[in-house]
Amino acid sequence: MSDLTVGVIRELYEGPEGANTMPYAPVVQVLSIKKIVSPNGPDRHRLILSDGQCFAQSMLATQLNHLVDGDENAPIRKHSVLRLVQVACNAVQGRRIIICLDVEAVAHPSTKIGTPEDVTKFIEHNPVAGGAPAQAAAVASTTTNASVGAGRGGSNASSTTAAKNVPAAKPAAGARRNGSESVIYPIEGLSPYQNKWTIKARVTVKSDVRHWSNQRGDGKLFSVNLLDETGEIKATGFNEAVDNLYDVFEVGKVYYVSKARVNIAKKQFSNLSNEYEIAFERDTIVELCEDQDAAPQVKYNFVELASLGECPKDSTVDVLGIVKDNGDLSEITAKATNKQIKKRELTIVDRSGYSVRVTLWGRAAETWKDTDNGVFAFKGAKVGDFGGRTLSMGGQSTIAEDPDVEAAHALRGWYDTEGHLNEFTSYNSSMATSGAVTFKKDEFKTLDEVINSGIGMQSEKPEYFATRATITFIKTDNLSYPACPTEKCNKKMTMEDESQWRCEKCNRTYEKPEYRYIVSIAVNDFTNQIWLSGFNEMGLQLFGRTANEMQQLREENEDEFSIVINKALGTMYNFSVKAKADSFNDQVKVRYQLQKAAPVNWVEDAKVLAEQIQAMSV
Ligand SMILES: [Zn+2]
Repeated sequence: MSDLTVGVIRELYEGPEGANTMPYAPVVQVLSIKKIVSPNGPDRHRLILSDGQCFAQSMLATQLNHLVDGDENAPIRKHSVLRLVQVACNAVQGRRIIICLDVEAVAHPSTKIGTPEDVTKFIEHNPVAGGAPAQAAAVASTTTNASVGAGRGGSNASSTTAAKNVPAAKPAAGARRNGSESVIYPIEGLSPYQNKWTIKARVTVKSDVRHWSNQRGDGKLFSVNLLDETGEIKATGFNEAVDNLYDVFEVGKVYYVSKARVNIAKKQFSNLSNEYEIAFERDTIVELCEDQDAAPQVKYNFVELASLGECPKDSTVDVLGIVKDNGDLSEITAKATNKQIKKRELTIVDRSGYSVRVTLWGRAAETWKDTDNGVFAFKGAKVGDFGGRTLSMGGQSTIAEDPDVEAAHALRGWYDTEGHLNEFTSYNSSMATSGAVTFKKDEFKTLDEVINSGIGMQSEKPEYFATRATITFIKTDNLSYPACPTEKCNKKMTMEDESQWRCEKCNRTYEKPEYRYIVSIAVNDFTNQIWLSGFNEMGLQLFGRTANEMQQLREENEDEFSIVINKALGTMYNFSVKAKADSFNDQVKVRYQLQKAAPVNWVEDAKVLAEQIQAMSV
């Protein structure tokens, strides 16, 4: 029923390397499909394609994976007849591979058509090409329109018919302008195995020109990130390429890029997940695309600020927030280079009720225009854990004001109607604001589990757990101690007289001590009770006052002191606890030391509970 384009496999196999030179869309049959699992990227599929006369190996471009993955009714399956809308040919280790960039399933016969032979054997047996051009041409006549549609415009229509009679045809010049010969490749389809391609992509990030100098010489480089519908890739130009191309690229514009090298990505210098990257070369061609809507706008994968605790340190995230505070421009000296760097710390908030600091550096910090509660998207911000969670904008990060995405409009609407009245939970662990720490769900233990599992008893090393519990008792007799005010000393001092406090370690006296907390609290959950001890930071957090202030209260206003203590009672926290065995009088006992305490995030934690209830299927 299905007519295959007899002869096309040989034609592709013997024709020029590079992207589609077919002036028509040939029809072939899939003889087999093999999935090749790649550890670092998307899986790939190897197809054996037949034209009824010959068969040859082919790879399916990864952007077509969805046509294969799925059930037995997937568009591409064994014996499917496909129209090759766009293909490329590459020599890989002496073998020609046909890469399917765009295909359409035509039919699904149940058996193999004809008795095709391995194309290399067939060529051996039939050294002169030209087995069946007549038949191929017959099919071609019906499919001509589909063919060049993959390119842009296809103005050079006359060359397409002529090409058919010459297997080693010149590339369909109409598909490209200015001498570049390739059709458009998806970014996702790029690999080091393909050297003739053009991509059409939007510049999302453009670095400054960076200079270096070492024993081997001086140099300069810049990089851009390029985005199309299928993915994003980093491209770097060195020296001459900087002179040639740096001024050509403008952030936000769409370009054709061709004649560059595809390398394995150096991921330590990039926030993209692409396993490859592009190196601009001397003859790389970059042309502005006439259709600026042809590539997608920047893609965001926004993370809510409340979820930052689940993002590992040094990972990169996209966040969307209202800028509540523009910070001040300041200057610091970088330790590594001894260079002065400009810095600015914004504070942003979002609907999750959290606020976080975002640090801008260099030109971004200097050129920041103060905004009054503007909506900004921060792409590729790096997660830091200083003071809970912070974000830092690096060379690969971008900021966009009022991005035209639905999430931004929703945030604006929410903030203007109710959000501006909200109190936000800060990630800063300074006093009076709670150190927001998120905990992995699976680390949570009930107090019964903590006690019965003997956590902390097993080894010399401390063990850690998280638990959700309510403070039921606070020891007030030893709430704090008089500490040495010398930085990092913190030793207990002894009073020699009213204004003489001695630190043995520093061997000097001070007028007054710096009180520091040694908190001891009982906490309960529905299973049990344990005692937790904590140091200064915990006291600051539980009482919202310094130990000095509490000491003063106790001495001057015991009622007020009790009120502060009682206010801390009955509050529920997510605690992070260190468990360590201590021996005392030949008795081994586990001491539980408070590491972090975060107020319960009712919304998030209720979701977790709901999941657990659902899992019980009650
Ligand atoms: Zn001291």
